[in-house]
Parts: sequence; C-alpha cells; structure tokens
Amino acid sequence: LFITFEGGEGCGKSTQIAALKARFEASGQSFVQTREPGGTPLGEAVRNLLQHDAAGEGMSPEAELLLFAASRAQHVRELIAPAIAAGQIVLCDRFLDSTTVYQGVARAIDPQQVQAINQFAIGSTRPDLTLLIDLPPEIGLARVHKRSDGQLDRMEQEAIEFFQAVRQGYLALAAAEPERIRVLDGNQSIESLEAEIWDIVQSKMNG
Ligand code: C5P
Repeated sequence: LFITFEGGEGCGKSTQIAALKARFEASGQSFVQTREPGGTPLGEAVRNLLQHDAAGEGMSPEAELLLFAASRAQHVRELIAPAIAAGQIVLCDRFLDSTTVYQGVARAIDPQQVQAINQFAIGSTRPDLTLLIDLPPEIGLARVHKRSDGQLDRMEQEAIEFFQAVRQGYLALAAAEPERIRVLDGNQSIESLEAEIWDIVQSKMNG
C-alpha cells in the first residue's frame, strides 16, 4: 500500500504524518516513512540543492523540474518500489502530484512535458491513496513564518499568487482523480484531522 501526502506550505503534512506514524506504531503495524525531495542519499543531496544551497540561486524552472524528477527516479527504484514489493505500507511526504502542481501549474511548464517526465521518473509505481491537506495559502504561509522565525527556504519565498496556483492545481487534480486523492480540510483541529486520516487509511487497509 503506497500512501502519499500532499498540500501547500504550512498545511500540516508533517504533523499528520507523525500522528499516523504514531498510530501505526501503537497498533504494531510496520511501515516505511519517507519524503520528497529526498528519501535516499542522492535525493537528500538534491533536496539541499533545491532548498538551501547557493548553487540553487537563479535555478531555471526546467532544471528544477529535472532535479525533482531525478530525486524521484532514485527514490522509486532504491526505496519505494522494493518496499511495496515486500508488502510494506509506504508513507511518503510529497510525490508526483507536487511536481504536477508546483512545476506544471505554478511554474507554468507545459503540463504534457511535466507528465512525460513524471512518468519516466516513476515507471509503474503509483500511489494507491493520496491525502491532500487543503488550506488557503495565507493561513499556511503565516504558520510557516511563525515556525521558521522569518528564515524561509528558496521555495517559501515565492509570491502568494504562486501558492494560490498551487492550491488550485491540487484541487483540480483531486477533482480529476477523486478515487485516489482525498481532499481534507487543513483548517480543522489537528486532532479531528488526525482522526479523519486514520479512518480513511484503515478503510483502505481493510478494503
Ligand atoms: O516540507 P515541504 O514538503 O513543504 O518542503 C518541500 C518544498 O519543496 C516546499 O517548499 C515545496 O514548495 C517545494 N516543492 C516544489 N516542487 C515539488 C516538490 C516540492 O517546489 N515538486
């Protein structure tokens, strides 16, 4: 079972992944937890380039797209596909939908080219369930500013319009694939969102 988490900045993904992880641990359920960009030594090096390294300054949208894809290609082959093949539950913080939305919609790269590159990167490995935590970007960014004390990474410094495009892109994807992508209200309490996610995950595991 391959479960991905998606959403804009400050939507609460990390908190909810930690909560789901705690539920799995409490119930004795084994799982693999990972993230993008990252998840492998190569992927984590790419993550640093994308977020913090001076070499990332002035990065073109095309180079950015290919770096995310490179991180994902390695991630799928080194970690995700083998774990799925071994019958594990895989929890991944961001996956291909982030690229469809951030690079395809918000950076306005031709969506067909983004799709082709995504396809090349993932092969046949697709999420069974995607939990999309939806939140107005104003609220999410305010959370990010609070937690990071004004120290923002390269992506977090984009204009509000960029994050509005991200949000609309995600909602459009969910409307096109309602079976896989579940839209969750990121504005509810941490506890009620956690309970909602646990319900969805359990019914997926039992179904
Ligand atoms: O912690 P979080 O998952 O939010 O950090 C990942 C960062 O990478 C975010 O700032 C997000 O905007 C960015 N990102 C991106 N394109 C992707 C995946 C992530 O711009 N395909």
